[in-house]
Amino acid sequence: MRFKLRDKLFIGGGWTPGRSGRTFEVVNPSTEEVLAAVPRGTPEDVDDAVRAAETAFGIWRRLQPEGRGRSLYGVARSLEARLEEFARLETLDTGKPLGHARGEISSCVRYFDYYAGVADKIHGETIPLGPDYLNYTVREPIGVTAHIVPWNAPLNMVCRSLAPALAAGNTAVIKPAEQTPLTALLFAEVFDALDFPAGVYNVVTGFGAEAGKALSEHPRIGSITFTGSVETGRAIIRASAEHVKPVVLELGGKSPQIVFADSDLDRAASEVVKGIYSNTGQYCDAGSRLLVEESISEPLVDKVVRHAREITLGQGIENPDMGPLVSAEHFDRVMGYVEAGQNEGANLIMGGRASEFEKGYFVSPTVFDGVSSEMSIAREEIFGPVLSVLPFSGEEEAAGIANDSNYGLAAGIFTSDIDRAMRFARDIQAGYVMVNEYFTGGPGSPFGGYKQSGIGRERGLMALQNYTQVKNVVIRVGRSSPGADAEHIERTADPGAN
Ligand code: NAD
Repeated sequence: MRFKLRDKLFIGGGWTPGRSGRTFEVVNPSTEEVLAAVPRGTPEDVDDAVRAAETAFGIWRRLQPEGRGRSLYGVARSLEARLEEFARLETLDTGKPLGHARGEISSCVRYFDYYAGVADKIHGETIPLGPDYLNYTVREPIGVTAHIVPWNAPLNMVCRSLAPALAAGNTAVIKPAEQTPLTALLFAEVFDALDFPAGVYNVVTGFGAEAGKALSEHPRIGSITFTGSVETGRAIIRASAEHVKPVVLELGGKSPQIVFADSDLDRAASEVVKGIYSNTGQYCDAGSRLLVEESISEPLVDKVVRHAREITLGQGIENPDMGPLVSAEHFDRVMGYVEAGQNEGANLIMGGRASEFEKGYFVSPTVFDGVSSEMSIAREEIFGPVLSVLPFSGEEEAAGIANDSNYGLAAGIFTSDIDRAMRFARDIQAGYVMVNEYFTGGPGSPFGGYKQSGIGRERGLMALQNYTQVKNVVIRVGRSSPGADAEHIERTADPGAN
């Protein structure tokens, strides 16, 4: 399959090299070959994109909601028709196995289908205030929404927030991760071909500290949706404070997978392996801590190790079970944790650097046991294929270890006891709880974190709160003079009641 690589910014419906003319290279992490050189977006480029999105907002928000929905269905169909092309490009850019990339692009299609159906169902309420008043709310779009996304599931992270934002009548400026900008650029072709108003979808590639910072600080954006690390999340909050912008933060995790002795151990082991090694451990909700009931620790860890040894590693395009890490820098970071785990006294059962590859950023599925909660490999997000095994005895201890984290994104529980599962679901401090299957759910399931895993929720109908603001309108309809109405005087005396 031939690729049309898009290597320009997409602003106001047109392709541009950007104001500075400077570029940076995008590398295939499977081979270390340069795939493209894309513009290094500047604050001026960001300003151009925000202006274009502002102009488009005046048109897009006024379309019939049903028409907006039809346009979003159009995006879903076009993406579906070009699924293989997008999946291959995503694979080259990220290193992820091709089958996996196909799954992520299919999920992009589902986001657009889901929110296309929602576009004409975003409505307000009427609130009873007596016969002389009509008191109602409308949900209005916010304006230009900024979407700053990471490299681990590049187009999927764009679509997750873009589809609800557009459905609600907003326009968007996307800042893809510098490691993986190619599918967000190619996606612009879809909007272009469907005759969306110019400027509804804009992409500014570039570095976080430059283009990302300029976008998050821009005075005329209406909101920021950020997916990425906690550290950058803090910078986003600070940037949003200046102009008092709402933020959605989807940050990291150190999610537990908790296996009880009464679970189906074969099934639990294969789910645990999927939960940590999918996407080479580079998912925010990767189940990177295996909490296992002491009595079954040995057989379960044996099964996990057996499955992990069967995982094939290779170039994403050859569709192995697991591809490389995304970049040389990230490879060094993950290997730093493998070293730290050993230095802190954990037992490395398998894994570490995959030395059979001359090129590419390959790390083998890695398992540590003998891990305790204070070790860095139990506390910090590694974002790689590294599983830390922590034993527990009894429910209370399991919940204590699971909740002993600054993060609270996801949790998996494996048990055949429904009461225990429900007690856990109640007690766990996490925004997403999965019982007897990891990575389950869909576009309708709200996703987001407790504690430092984030603020707000993506997906589902809840996401519409991120991309709408509520206007309350109160109309006096009675004929009597408002001044003579005792109730009216009472209400105006209390501004909060009006
Ligand atoms: P990152 O924070 O380094 O970068 C994310 C994005 O922010 C990139 O586009 C980057 O260019 C930009 N950025 C960097 N500095 C910036 C700044 N000062 N101002 C504005 N933008 C800036 O994160 P990453 O390493 O690309 O991604 C990995 C992280 O993302 C992990 O912590 C992972 O858990 C998290 N993540 C979370 C979710 C979720 O839904 N909760 C999903 C995927 C990834």
